[in-house]
Amino acid sequence: MTPRSPGPSCRRAVTPGQSSWMRFFSLFCPSIQADVILLVTCSIREKAEQAIWNRLRHLSALKARRQQQAGSPLRIGILGCMAERLKEEILHREKLVDIVAGPDAYRDLPRLLAVAESGQQAANVLLSLDETYADILPVQTSAGGTTAFVSIMRGCDNMCSYCIVPFTRGRERSRPIASILQEVRMLSDQGVKEVTLLGQNVNSFRDMSEVQFQSAAAPGLSRGFSTVYRAKPGGLRFAHLLDQVSRIDPEMRIRFTSPHPKDFPDEVLQLIQERHNICKQLHLPAQSGSTRVLEAMRRGYTREAYLELVHHVRDSIPGVSLSSDFIAGFCGETEEDHQQTVSLLQDVRYNVGFLFAYSMRETRAFHRLQDDVPAEVKQRRLQELIAVFREEAARANEAMVGQCQLVLVEGPSKRSALELCGRNDGNIKVIFPDAEVEDAAGCQALARAQPGDYVLVKVTSASSQTLRGVPLRRTTLSRSAACH
Ligand code: SAM
Ligand code: SF4
Repeated sequence: MTPRSPGPSCRRAVTPGQSSWMRFFSLFCPSIQADVILLVTCSIREKAEQAIWNRLRHLSALKARRQQQAGSPLRIGILGCMAERLKEEILHREKLVDIVAGPDAYRDLPRLLAVAESGQQAANVLLSLDETYADILPVQTSAGGTTAFVSIMRGCDNMCSYCIVPFTRGRERSRPIASILQEVRMLSDQGVKEVTLLGQNVNSFRDMSEVQFQSAAAPGLSRGFSTVYRAKPGGLRFAHLLDQVSRIDPEMRIRFTSPHPKDFPDEVLQLIQERHNICKQLHLPAQSGSTRVLEAMRRGYTREAYLELVHHVRDSIPGVSLSSDFIAGFCGETEEDHQQTVSLLQDVRYNVGFLFAYSMRETRAFHRLQDDVPAEVKQRRLQELIAVFREEAARANEAMVGQCQLVLVEGPSKRSALELCGRNDGNIKVIFPDAEVEDAAGCQALARAQPGDYVLVKVTSASSQTLRGVPLRRTTLSRSAACH
């Protein structure tokens, strides 16, 4: 089994190799027939943990009902970051929990389940220095899916002062390139058309598994950026991985998230610019627009260095679509600091944004700083950031009206069966009528686009989150690149 997504929230369920005695059930359909329910958890903000405590209350009733009706117990497991962080509390406070497994203990699940079967609580929250689940290929639960995530690294060594990830996910380690390529080839054979490489700092990727590369020099950091750790020499780097992955299938789009802005050497930017199937879309998490706050966050850059990087990225990859993460109301943030973040949002004009109110976790900030921005001020600042972000994103998207965008069709639009929904290269949702379109291959026959098809769409309107348009023709990724 392997976790499908190490992203910050909404992780997908771990997909276990099914054994004869164990059935696996979705959290959202906790049938009374279930033998085992495993909750994959996140600790990044308090709200994510609160959702799990609430869910456990519901499961408590289900567990009692199952015992009464079927006469056999329902086993409940807590997996992932919350298990890592709160093992003792979960086991003592929630007697209904049978299994607690941290992010590096998924291989141990069969044993933990066997212990639970004997009526005892079972736990493993040991963090590993080298576990990457490299040899376990995920089972695709959505047959015929168009897009997939591929985990390429685990953990984080950055120690931003607000962030729990280094404590719950452990040290940074990269999955060997050979196993990543094998998984991407398998996905390509299954017809998957878009792969997103996943990790907490994907562009810090460093595969040390091949001896001949263990002494290679470390690539430089982005200009004006620093780290809390010493430069790490050796290993095959992200540029090499990206190069290899993008060569597998010219019809497969490649994305990656989340990168750290410090690790964007020119060779990575150049590769993104040159390769037709690497999306011209970068996530550059800024967190704040105030140098003072960035310093308190231990991000390793100033506002000026960040802006210089944005300009360099835009020069290197013309038309690149940018997204970012921001935290409102971090310890000591003043109105002036907040205004600096507002102005950064205006200066950069991101296409996509993820904005959060600061949530105190047991990190360096918890021990050394004061969570002194009142909750209502955090919320007000967050709403202001969201409003400014939306205004700017709407402007950025409006600039695409009249342009042709290549859309990878994902399926029917949620709102209307008469429309299709997909994403453009910049990862922006595009909706268009499900009408018959010409095929760019030259045959005159008209056909309806299917999930997994690339369709050239002329954009007719835009909002902060969505583009709408009319389909012109069905084409391929390579053919469309050749026309530009
Ligand atoms: N590694 C990426 C980076 O360097 O920016 C981000 C990954 S982090 C798991 C995802 C996002 O969660 C962060 O970018 C940050 O905006 C947000 N986040 C992390 N800790 C937080 C906290 N204590 N309160 C609010 N948001 C937080
Ligand atoms: Fe958290 Fe910072 Fe690591 Fe991102 S880089 S996961 S924000 S500690």
